[in-house]
Amino acid sequence: MADNNHHRIVVIGGGTAGLAVAARLRRAVDCDLAIIEPSETHFYQPLWTLVGAGAVRKEATARREADYIAPGAKWIKDRVAEVSPHRNHIVTGSGARVSYDFLIVAPGLELNWDVIPGLREAVQTGVVSTNYSYNHTERTWEIIRSFRGGTALFHMPGTPIKCPGAPQKIMYLAADYFRRNRISANVVYGSATASIYGVKEYAAVLDKVIARYGIDARFKHDLVELRPQKKEAVFAKLDDPVQNRVTIPFDLMHVAPPQTAPEFIRTSELAPIGRPGLGWVEVDQYTLQHRRFPNVFALGDVAGTPNAKTGAAIMKQAPVVAANLIEVMNGREPLAQYNGYVACPITTAYGRLLLCEFDYTGQPTPTIPWINTIGERYDTWLLKRYGLPWLYWNVMIRGRDVPFLGARAIREAALAAATSRS
Ligand SMILES: Cc1cc2nc3c(=O)[nH]c(=O)nc-3n(C[C@H](O)[C@H](O)[C@H](O)COP(=O)(O)OP(=O)(O)OC[C@H]3O[C@@H](n4cnc5c(N)ncnc54)[C@H](O)[C@@H]3O)c2cc1C
Repeated sequence: MADNNHHRIVVIGGGTAGLAVAARLRRAVDCDLAIIEPSETHFYQPLWTLVGAGAVRKEATARREADYIAPGAKWIKDRVAEVSPHRNHIVTGSGARVSYDFLIVAPGLELNWDVIPGLREAVQTGVVSTNYSYNHTERTWEIIRSFRGGTALFHMPGTPIKCPGAPQKIMYLAADYFRRNRISANVVYGSATASIYGVKEYAAVLDKVIARYGIDARFKHDLVELRPQKKEAVFAKLDDPVQNRVTIPFDLMHVAPPQTAPEFIRTSELAPIGRPGLGWVEVDQYTLQHRRFPNVFALGDVAGTPNAKTGAAIMKQAPVVAANLIEVMNGREPLAQYNGYVACPITTAYGRLLLCEFDYTGQPTPTIPWINTIGERYDTWLLKRYGLPWLYWNVMIRGRDVPFLGARAIREAALAAATSRS
């Protein structure tokens, strides 16, 4: 195999994280940077929830990848098959070897359809649907629109998934649709988690939403089998070792497939050694630098940070990785720190949204000044529907600063100035 290709910086993946960090680096320094990305199309996934709810067209979430590769960056249209961090090179699917001085790992995650027996068949045949795949989002809307009553089941796994709020977002939208159209529905939430949300302030709001719709929330219920022909879902009851299995017949079902790091990462030295698991890249949760390979950084869904995997997290991670990589390239220590910021805009009805924002402390960290975002609101719905997509395409993946997220700092500075004057 010829060593035909060397770049100062190689970015694996041209999704949200890869594009955002590459654009930032290209804006900051005149560097030789290559992005390895096989797909011709780039997707804005947060709108898939609204596609599944019939509020947005699927095509509105997809754009040409070529239009978002940072000027001056080289696009290698291939997939990575193997990564060798000891040798500072990767091997692509077509067999090319690409070597690097510095590596940024951002290939997102893998949806594992075969972990749960019956899941692949149930999704392929359209018996159940999922907003986790572009090709199935419209099917979600079809099954909601054609539902004439009975049990509507929404599933949430126990292992980390991207946007862990997404399974309940589509559930509330469906429940709202059924109510508006006077369809008698027994809405069931089958979730392996212990409660509706990990941050108590937001959980309190969501508990009221669940009560409003009369949702039958079954926590610590882990989906272990789907029987598409019978339209049955089998759950393991995690806190009941005696009566351990429960079968729920359904008329409509939305699933969130179990997710892991992509296989080429999971089986590489970038994943935690000797700890077989989901394979997330072993980074320092603050600097996002690899714990064993200082010339490697990871961000986005593939990064092994102890918080929720969201695009909003990447808004905060990309500047940290760009700043720290530049420091390391100049022989200095990485000092910028990611504080674990995550945002999850939970649609609670058509036109209503709860904007959950928090960091590693697990405390709410609202960023919009002057309004109380710990509640269901119409303006934050508009933000999700129109504002955030605009920011995404024009600011975030162009490597610019997101003014909205600076608002908190501005408000704090203004408050500090006002306090010091009084
Ligand atoms: C239904 C749904 C709703 C969501 N809602 C929200 C929301 O409201 N707010 C929010 O902040 N986030 C939301 N998210 C999550 C958000 O979209 C992801 O967290 C984000 O896109 C992750 O970015 P990423 O770059 O890590 O991965 P991706 O954006 O998935 O990109 C990964 C890229 O890597 C490429 N790749 C894969 N394998 C290889 C390989 N072997 N070699 C090279 N390239 C490879 C892929 O082609 C892809 O382009 C949602 C996601 C879904 C599915």
